[in-house]
This record gives sequence, C-alpha cells and structure tokens, in this order.
Amino acid sequence: EITLQIDGLTKTYLPGTPGEVQVLRGADLTLRAGEVVALVAPSGAGKSTLLQIAGLLDVADAGTVEIGGQDMAGASDRKRTRVRRQDVGFVYQFHHLLPEFTALENLVLPQLANGVSQRAAEAGGAELLALVGLSDRAAHRPAALSGGEQQRVAVCRALANSPRILLADEPTGNLDPATSDQVFDVLMRLVSETGLSALIATHNLELAARMDRVLRLEEGVLRAG
Ligand code: ADP
Ligand code: ADP
Repeated sequence: EITLQIDGLTKTYLPGTPGEVQVLRGADLTLRAGEVVALVAPSGAGKSTLLQIAGLLDVADAGTVEIGGQDMAGASDRKRTRVRRQDVGFVYQFHHLLPEFTALENLVLPQLANGVSQRAAEAGGAELLALVGLSDRAAHRPAALSGGEQQRVAVCRALANSPRILLADEPTGNLDPATSDQVFDVLMRLVSETGLSALIATHNLELAARMDRVLRLEEGVLRAG
C-alpha cells in the first residue's frame, strides 16, 4: 500500500528576482506503509521545502502529491487541511509544544481539534506517553522536561491523531548524541508498532543507515543513496 506518492515536484522561491532559488526540479518519491525512509542532503538543499509540500503545508509550482491514493494537488484548501490533520504527523527539530499546557494537554488538544471527545483524547494521550516511558511526566509543562523528554512528547503529538504518514525534519538535530539515539529509538519503535510510514530528514548518517532506505536530495531531485 502506497501512503505517499510524489511525482515531478518543482519549486522555485522568489522567481524572477535576484534572490531566485530553484529548490525542487522534478522530485519523485514513493513511500509504502510501514516504510521508514531517510532524507539526506546538506543544509539549504530543500529538505524542509519537500517535507512541507509533502505534508500539505506548502504547494509546489508543478507536480503531484497523493496521500492514501488521493490527489492533493487539485484538492480544495478545506480538503487539504482535513487530510493534513488526519493523515500527516509532523516532528520538527524544536519541539514546538505549547508552553502553558502540560505534556498530556499537548497531546489532547490536536485530538479535540479533530473531533475526538475529551475522555478519548486523554486516554489516547496517556497511552502514547506510556509507550515512550513518560507516564510520570503527563502533568509537567514542557519547560519542566529535559530536551529528550520534550522531543519524545513531540513525537507523541505527531502520532496523536493516528496519521498514515510521519514527516520529521531533523527530529534529533537539537539533542546530544546519547539523547538523540534514545529519541530515535522511540520514534522507530512507534513507527513499527503503528505501521505508519515515515520520511525523516537528517544530517546524521548513522541514524539514516538504520532506516529502511536512504534518499538524497541533490540538485532538486531525489536519488537512492
Ligand atoms: P533544507 O531544509 O535542506 O535546509 P530548505 O528547504 O529550508 O532547505 O531551503 C532550500 C532553499 O530555499 C534555501 O536556499 C533557502 O534559503 C530557500 N528558501 C526556503 N524557504 C524560502 C522562502 N520562503 N523564501 C525564499 N527562499 C526560501
Ligand atoms: P537531560 O540530561 O535529558 O537533558 P535533565 O538533566 O535536563 O535531562 O533533566 C533530568 C530530569 O530532571 C528529567 O527527568 C526532567 O524531567 C527533570 N527536570 C529537568 N528540569 C526540570 C524542571 N525545571 N522542573 C522539574 N523537573 C525537571
């Protein structure tokens, strides 16, 4: 089962100006259910751009994005928003948790936005925290958590609405090596337990080598590597 299919994506920022930068020049990608794929490229190569287009946060100039077999390029904004909320989970380099809410509340809120009841959202959030070993941190606000704990909560938040696809942009880039390994292990375990597929941008070649395959973004196209 193909969860994400991308064909011929092109993207140019600031076209026709001195700042013009052609970031994507025909990027293709097929992501199957349960597959974990590393996206490797130097800084500035366009990894974030690709992830944002794949996750329906941005649009390409040309090319197609299909999520769960549905064409998203021509879809209405409303449909794109719905698919993004239901089918895509994001993890960033920084946790972006809401500082005034507890770890559990940070997992409950996105579920409420998707129409889940308070009670079911709390149960789901608590289950996720248990899976990453943070049950005893449920009532802590992000500032009271260590960097690794914050990022584990961010992984839980990405999975709170049971997406088909996890998109991660340097998810361990802000952590020391030992903590980075720990967060990565948690992420890989959750992906394999939930059967979703993941596209993970990383600079860390050791982590990339532990994924199912590696794609390099070079000169605006994706190549196996
Ligand atoms: P990466 O994630 O690989 O570091 P990005 O996708 O963030 O790469 O950026 C790719 C290139 O596009 C960079 O040269 C960056 O400066 C440029 N860029 C990214 N976003 C914008 C934007 N909104 N406007 C203009 N240029 C941008
Ligand atoms: P790390 O080595 O992962 O960065 P820390 O030394 O930051 O870990 O934190 C160790 C433990 O102390 C963690 O379990 C964290 O939850 C707890 N902790 C850290 N800062 C605070 C805080 N301001 N208030 C309460 N608990 C904290």
